[in-house]
Amino acid sequence: MKGIHINQAESYSQEAFLCASCNREYEAKVITWVDASRTPQVKQTLLRWEFNMIVCTHCGCRQQAETPFFYEDFEEGLLLAVFPRIPESRGSVEASIQAKYGYYPILEFFYDMTQLWTLLYLQEHYRANKNLRGLSRLGTGEGWTRKVLHFLKEDPLMIDIRERLTESFFGDATEDQLMDLLARAIYKLEDMLPWPQDRRCLCGADLSGELKCCGKQVDLKEHDRLLSRQYVIYCASCGEALAGVSCEKCGRVYTWKLGLVRSYRKDRPQDQRVMDRPAISRNYPQFD
Ligand SMILES: [Zn+2]
Ligand SMILES: [Zn+2]
Ligand SMILES: [Zn+2]
Repeated sequence: MKGIHINQAESYSQEAFLCASCNREYEAKVITWVDASRTPQVKQTLLRWEFNMIVCTHCGCRQQAETPFFYEDFEEGLLLAVFPRIPESRGSVEASIQAKYGYYPILEFFYDMTQLWTLLYLQEHYRANKNLRGLSRLGTGEGWTRKVLHFLKEDPLMIDIRERLTESFFGDATEDQLMDLLARAIYKLEDMLPWPQDRRCLCGADLSGELKCCGKQVDLKEHDRLLSRQYVIYCASCGEALAGVSCEKCGRVYTWKLGLVRSYRKDRPQDQRVMDRPAISRNYPQFD
């Protein structure tokens, strides 16, 4: 396994596996408990799908062990019981883990490796993007984790993400398609809204002065006519991409990455028509 040594894990076990290629049995060591606070490189290992990758001693074929494991992030108060394959007696397995480790602030069960992958991707993405953190309404620490976990477990978009991740793993989908989907996940997670061309928030406040980075205001007028799903505004000081604007008065967040609407004001009939168009996803009015 690249990036992490088996003895850096909190625990591991030696198990027998059946090779999917030559059909012979072999033994390999797999990690059964890892703490990402102590061994942060495990995150990259998981993001590269290298975690618990085992190699057949007879024919050299590589495969991912489907052994359940605990992913702990002690600093975040998080314990995840990860089952790459759903166990037979799921209910009693969950109950016994709950009884043993229920003292963790957050204890959750994943029955799909793409849930863990997406969690780690989002953690990295929020960590690396200060502008996203600035706009975010998810809070930090435990609050952030709980909202993201709810998304990972409940949101139908996760079905698409799982499919795309599998495709891109086998080379059938491009990185761009996957990134696009993950960006959509973030807009959805954050409850963002398409950009109003009149720069008026739903609450009526003016959004013109709200595009900021590095403590400085970015003039929207320069970009106004160019705004579209593909358009990116970069901060002149730090070079980071700006995704959108949050209303100072009510906290709603808008992004041109979800497209544009003429206005959110309901007192103009032509705008009402835009608002009433059938919802494509999560009731976002689409206008582009
Ligand atoms: Zn083999
Ligand atoms: Zn900046
Ligand atoms: Zn507002």
